[in-house]
Amino acid sequence: MLRGGWRGLGTALAAGAVLAAVLRAGPAQLRAKFLHTEHELREPRTVSQADMKVEILPALTDNYMYLLIDQDTREAAIVDPVQPQKVLDAVKKHGVKLTTVLTTHHHWDHAGGNEKLVKMEPGLHVYGGDSRVGALTQRVSHLTALKVGSLSVKCLSTPCHTSGHICYYVTKPNSSEPPAVFTGDTLFVAGCGKFFEGTPEEMYKALIEILGSLDPKTRVYCGHEYTINNLKFARHVEPGNPSIQEKLAWAKVKVISVLEDNYMYLVIEESSRQALAVDAAVPKRLLEIVRKEDVVLKAILTTHHHWDHARGNEELAQLLPGLQVFGADERIGALTHRVSHGQELAKVFCGHECTVRNLKFALKVEPENEKVKEKLAEEAVQSFTGRTEPVEVLRALRSQRDNFKKPKERPNPQAMLAFDWGLFEPFLEKK
Ligand SMILES: [Zn+2]
Ligand SMILES: [Zn+2]
Repeated sequence: MLRGGWRGLGTALAAGAVLAAVLRAGPAQLRAKFLHTEHELREPRTVSQADMKVEILPALTDNYMYLLIDQDTREAAIVDPVQPQKVLDAVKKHGVKLTTVLTTHHHWDHAGGNEKLVKMEPGLHVYGGDSRVGALTQRVSHLTALKVGSLSVKCLSTPCHTSGHICYYVTKPNSSEPPAVFTGDTLFVAGCGKFFEGTPEEMYKALIEILGSLDPKTRVYCGHEYTINNLKFARHVEPGNPSIQEKLAWAKVKVISVLEDNYMYLVIEESSRQALAVDAAVPKRLLEIVRKEDVVLKAILTTHHHWDHARGNEELAQLLPGLQVFGADERIGALTHRVSHGQELAKVFCGHECTVRNLKFALKVEPENEKVKEKLAEEAVQSFTGRTEPVEVLRALRSQRDNFKKPKERPNPQAMLAFDWGLFEPFLEKK
């Protein structure tokens, strides 16, 4: 058992200081990302890497399906295809060959589409770790190895939410690209799944020993969108943890979709009445809304230099002296802050991911120079749960979380982008 494990778990569940540390790094270091798509938008997003692509397909109310594409062979796998038609539409859009179904667990909101999908698309390999998984063709267990085209898939048994729960760890051999892990209902952003068929000991093992030991660069794709609820619970557990307050601040961010087909957005920080625009293509329309909302436009985030995204930058920069313009390409008009990692930006914008590095940091409760903060978190989690032993802390937190009220808000991708870039830090620091 890891030293400091219980604190780590508290922090992992509570998404503690780690995120803030990452976010404080600012736009130049877009490393670890915690990002979720706005479910109400119902739009698929693609996270592209050189070797593998992951299309995020929101499903049902708050589920995620993921289309995993091997760029070399154009072969694809689908994770938890609860809505088969949506899956096949995405397969068609990308022009790939779907060969594989990866099922995290047998619950209907994950495995419920398997039978229909294999009828629509015969010959699929359907993998899962539980005989209750529909249309199963191969039952896998811990460390079973599979291939999707040239991608390697390692099955990780993480029983607890259900006894046959599997996480799928995907790597591209001989590649520097970060691995991906599909965690189903085991690990969410700032939380973990319910213990339906297992014990806190098992969840502890799944989170700390199995997922926690993956490559720190691993991108995590989880089964549900519970981020805000989890963070609100985290705040309930650790009311004095400033990192959680900061992370929750984006929940107060209001996003106005200005041109729906072109993704122009105005992101408003409610308390300061300051705003930023994402791809301010049509200044006149944007400024109308800025006036109507009575906010101060501070920055523009430009996703790329194309005319329909960046064409309004120069005009706005002239009208609003001091306006900050962020982007990753010199061809972007009126650019004031060139951000590095152009490819990463697309991921930030489109993605739904965090890295295992976050979890690992949390588990180690690092760094040393944040000892004061650790101490605060430690005492808060300890007094909240009345426990000190790691597994007991997890047991207590999970049962409290089960009874925690469900707020309505959901995160929003543009707000998250802004937050990840550190653009709200000046506002936050003032509070
Ligand atoms: Zn489930
Ligand atoms: Zn589920």
